[in-house]
Amino acid sequence: MKYNTVLLFGAPGAGKGTQGKVLGTVPGYFHIACGDVFRNLTVESELGRVFLEYSGRGELVPDEYTIRLWREAVEGRKQGAQFQPKRDMLVLDGLPRSLTQAQMLADALNVLAIFNLICPDRSKLIARLQRRALRENRLDDVNYEVILQRLDVYERETKPVLDFYGAQLVHTIDATQPPIVVLHQLLEVLTKL
Ligand code: AMP
Repeated sequence: MKYNTVLLFGAPGAGKGTQGKVLGTVPGYFHIACGDVFRNLTVESELGRVFLEYSGRGELVPDEYTIRLWREAVEGRKQGAQFQPKRDMLVLDGLPRSLTQAQMLADALNVLAIFNLICPDRSKLIARLQRRALRENRLDDVNYEVILQRLDVYERETKPVLDFYGAQLVHTIDATQPPIVVLHQLLEVLTKL
């Protein structure tokens, strides 16, 4: 069975997590952020070490590791009944982040909409990431060079994912608007799905 899914898409700092957390509180929506799944690993585990190595450089964790971990995380949440695929819309945040990931997930996801949160002004994204680094203790956003690398990786590896799904699914939203306005625009689409 494929999961009915909407994707929160956009550069680091565009506000995917903020919107995802809100949507995840609505009955019938289940939010999962790939970065959170990684951050919940212990550093003693093999995957935890792999995550620290790659995220510390601002790079993507290799696709095989990422998809394996994600599948395990979703299975766990199904077992615990937090996620009920027949009832819930899956809200994916930070996945897929490469063309290969999109292909690997094709058997699992029925993608109904993609929300592309855009922020053409790099300096705004950087400022947001730096504020978050302090607030949330995010090591990968402390270092300026790592932030720049994360933004480059997004342009190079993640953006092509939009073409994989096709323009008809993509809803472009100005991420520089206040979060409540972004949420309103998301809801306008979601209520019609
Ligand atoms: P995020 O919290 O979404 O900004 O992700 C933090 C870091 O986790 C990224 O810089 C990557 O190293 C790793 N990560 C998160 N999602 C993925 C993914 N889908 N594929 C590979 N690496 C990921």
